[in-house]
Amino acid sequence: MAIRNFEYTAGSLALNFVDTVAQRQTSPYDLINSEKDFIKWTRNADPVFYNVRFPFPIDVGAVKELREAIYKALCAVITETPPKDSDIELINKCAVNADLRPSLKNGIVYFDSGDTFNAILSMIAADAINCLAENAALKLRECPDCQMIFRDNSRPQNRIWCSSSSGCGNRAKVRRHRAKKGK
Ligand SMILES: [Zn+2]
Repeated sequence: MAIRNFEYTAGSLALNFVDTVAQRQTSPYDLINSEKDFIKWTRNADPVFYNVRFPFPIDVGAVKELREAIYKALCAVITETPPKDSDIELINKCAVNADLRPSLKNGIVYFDSGDTFNAILSMIAADAINCLAENAALKLRECPDCQMIFRDNSRPQNRIWCSSSSGCGNRAKVRRHRAKKGK
């Protein structure tokens, strides 16, 4: 089976970050396995990250640690159970680092920081906090097909399926259609 690449369709920075593990509940597949993978994901994750000055030290273990804490906290709030204190503490700890600072060079804005890596994790953690806050959490959904956690930004707030290229909603439509025809 073809493994998909990075997608940025979950509705926010932190949710897209969590989505770097595909098929979480059936056959999890981690798309971030090296510094190179993280850089690749980061470049397209937010316009601010595009002109970040690479390279800088990247701790892939810390990347995964934050990501899984966010995932577990999201799962908790979706099922209306309290997230684990240790997960929230890790997210809060990551969020306190400074954001990236802009600087202008030959007309191009570069983003830098004393500690660029932790600044990027900090921005992801801050977005996770926005997603997990009581009112925002009501918009979180888990796709019944591919298990992507996404934010339902639609006006009627009635989305069931994710909008990834895997076409979950479409497949469900086909299944319903076939069931109707009795095939
Ligand atoms: Zn899906």
